Amino acid sequence: MQSFYSEEEKAFRAEVRAFVETHLPPDLARQGLHDYHPRRQDQSRWVKILAEKGWSVPHWPAAYGGPGWTGVQRFIFEEEMRRAHAPTADRIGTELVAPVLYTFASEEQRQKYLPAIRKGDTFWAQGFSEPGSGSDLSSLRTRAVRDGDHYVVSGQKTWTTEGQHADMIFMLVRTNAEVKPQAGISALLIDLKSAGITRRPIWTIDEGLTVNEFFFDDVRVPAENLVGEEGAGWSYAKFLLNNERTNSAEVPHTKRDIAQLREIAKIELKNGRPLIEDANFRARLARIEIDTMALETAVLRALTAASHDGGSVASLVKVRGSELRQRVADLADEALGDRGLAICLNPEGEHRMFDDGLTSPVADHGIGIAAKAMFRRATTIYGGANEIQRTLIAKTVLEL
Ligand SMILES: Cc1cc2nc3c(=O)[nH]c(=O)nc-3n(C[C@H](O)[C@H](O)[C@H](O)COP(=O)(O)OP(=O)(O)OC[C@H]3O[C@@H](n4cnc5c(N)ncnc54)[C@H](O)[C@@H]3O)c2cc1C
Repeated sequence: MQSFYSEEEKAFRAEVRAFVETHLPPDLARQGLHDYHPRRQDQSRWVKILAEKGWSVPHWPAAYGGPGWTGVQRFIFEEEMRRAHAPTADRIGTELVAPVLYTFASEEQRQKYLPAIRKGDTFWAQGFSEPGSGSDLSSLRTRAVRDGDHYVVSGQKTWTTEGQHADMIFMLVRTNAEVKPQAGISALLIDLKSAGITRRPIWTIDEGLTVNEFFFDDVRVPAENLVGEEGAGWSYAKFLLNNERTNSAEVPHTKRDIAQLREIAKIELKNGRPLIEDANFRARLARIEIDTMALETAVLRALTAASHDGGSVASLVKVRGSELRQRVADLADEALGDRGLAICLNPEGEHRMFDDGLTSPVADHGIGIAAKAMFRRATTIYGGANEIQRTLIAKTVLEL
């Protein structure tokens, strides 16, 4: 793949790598190596280091503090971040909510919210899904009723990623039940400290905490927190979801996982020989690597294309990228067997250690692998389930 890159892009990669090597705190790199879910203060610490350099919001236009990089530079930057095991920033704020704000929100809203996201001071959540309204999102029922200068919000959101860290939530609400479902949806920016909001954690199969449910009980939200036009929330949501799906290709993350798997396979033994020497294992690893290279080419091609239909590209790379993330995690899990069963305990107890007396002693390279393989079941669900993406591809690309 190196041939894809120009001399300038190679020099850019070297600059990023040198910066990360000298500035990434070693304790954060170690947490990232074991796929700790980064704590808010650790994300914020790293974002502040990047912000100082002007690199904390790679996707943003220069007018709002972005570095003005090309798509390929952003890809290289992400690759170097994952390679170094740097913590991810508040991705919902920086990659999903902020583009909606700088594209559709009022200038007052941009000035109010964007600087705090860029500096790692405010964290965001995305409140779309509800019980019964996931794939069929336009059926959502959380209501916002106008009352003078406020909306009064009642209902429930679920699967809210990073809700335990978030200060604000970008919410889809129903402001009109009389029109067709999509036309009655609006987008509100809600302060999660508002009276009437209850959060409940959802512990996932990896014994980790990244998703939550939120209950809204007559929450008063200033009307000035409406994004754009009332009733136009569905189009902002589609814009956000296209960004989410494109990001879910996660090629840099998969490449990092492949490198980690290669290391595991050099250490783990099969019939007394390193697993990496086993022909069957090597063939399976090669298949994943080839598919990842193909996806990488597709993503880079989309990033450098003069124009493309963003929606269908987003669905295509989402499907392939999310499946690859599962495949590499599953193979690593298989390579380790029960030696991969340990989960890192982070200081806030958001990940717990299996302590059942049955787990074998785990080598450093095995920490977190099984947990990762379990959580990766979610990649084909979040951002819009893959079955739904396949239907979109069938309609828009194949015209079936
Ligand atoms: C880890 C994780 C994080 C998430 N984070 C967020 C978040 O931050 N914010 C947020 O708003 N949401 C979030 N979600 C929710 C996510 O977007 C939904 O789970 C997803 O859209 C699927 O909706 P559902 O869970 O209601 O499943 P359902 O819609 O009930 O689907 C169940 C199954 O049926 C299939 N199915 C449904 N309809 C069809 C159809 N018409 N044709 C074919 N198959 C169909 C689906 O593909 C799926 O396999 C997250 C989910 C997970 C697992």
